Amino acid sequence: MKIPLAKPEILESDIEAVTAVLRSSRLSQGPTLRAFEEALANYLGVAHAVAVNSGTSALQLGLRALGIAEDDEVILPSFSFMAVTNAVLAAGAVPVFVDIASGSWNLDPAKVEVLIGPRTKAIIVIHTFGFPAPTDRIITLARRHGLFVIEDVCEAFGAEVNGQKAGALGDIGILAFYPNKQITTGEGGAVITNSAELAESVRCQRNQGRENSTQWLQHCEIGYSYRLSDLNCALGLGQLSRIESILKRREALARCYQHHLAANEELQSYSECHNGRISWFTYPALLPSGVDRDEIWRELGQMGIEAGRYFPPAHLQPVMRNVSFRCGDLSEMLSVAQRVLCLPFFNELEERKIEFVCESLNEALALRYPVAKAG
Ligand SMILES: *Cc1c(COP(=O)(O)O)cnc(C)c1O
Repeated sequence: MKIPLAKPEILESDIEAVTAVLRSSRLSQGPTLRAFEEALANYLGVAHAVAVNSGTSALQLGLRALGIAEDDEVILPSFSFMAVTNAVLAAGAVPVFVDIASGSWNLDPAKVEVLIGPRTKAIIVIHTFGFPAPTDRIITLARRHGLFVIEDVCEAFGAEVNGQKAGALGDIGILAFYPNKQITTGEGGAVITNSAELAESVRCQRNQGRENSTQWLQHCEIGYSYRLSDLNCALGLGQLSRIESILKRREALARCYQHHLAANEELQSYSECHNGRISWFTYPALLPSGVDRDEIWRELGQMGIEAGRYFPPAHLQPVMRNVSFRCGDLSEMLSVAQRVLCLPFFNELEERKIEFVCESLNEALALRYPVAKAG
């Protein structure tokens, strides 16, 4: 038995929708792109959604639309996918890494303010693993210091913060649709915003810097070829049309994991979510300190269970030796990053497989760490 970490759910109706676009011959910049963008904006409760070819592209264009450039500083957690740090570096800006809070593993609002300096321009709030980050507190802080807030919702599509969709609160929100995300377009991403001006800048940049209005081939800023094809958008539309059942299915999977891991008191996952709704991206298990996470990971691998060691700290990646960055106190992140094991998580995962994953994990821990288990 092989159990992958993630797997996209592609229905016959998705295949039909993509095929219909192929038959229409409107493969790019066509009606399906517009329909997908409109559906995204409607669902998330924002005025504009601009689809691009990846989440990383969305981050790059979003940062540029906000005018973030050479030597500006951007505050972000180091506990995340490297795409976010890469986008900051690609803008020529300086990443400033802030610690995470225990129980949510999102950036710790109490540790942000000391990092704000004269060159700070923005804070990137990442809703890591789909757990709602305290965007409202960060926005209050940012407004006091005149900073932009970017919400990275790439792992949290459909999550909510105080009744609003994650991504809709900041100046811009960043979405991604890689096949391991809650909904997929194969490859893809989007920038969401309530600002017509920012949306227009991203629209222009994704298509060679071309002005969208009247003039044919009028290039008003440096642009890229970051468009998302209508084929991808057709898949995205199909996935988005069943988002509520996807989120509910994933909530049920998380409850199943909680149930089968409950007896193991040493294992932790999230604390209760009081300020919103989790959009489950994976099931992160925090192993007790003193446990060799990589050893457990290898053992699960031998049993056909693919687990994820998310995330190695961004500031410790080899590429960071050649660039400038700053760090605050990262003690919580350094303790958590080496103990998290993300367990298989996807819509079609059966409950008996979750049971098998949990039994294997409980056994691996009990065998190697009988003392830890006895508490
Ligand atoms: C997936 C992801 C992205 C974007 O990834 P792409 O592969 O470029 O689509 C950005 N930020 C986070 C936190 C992610 O998990």
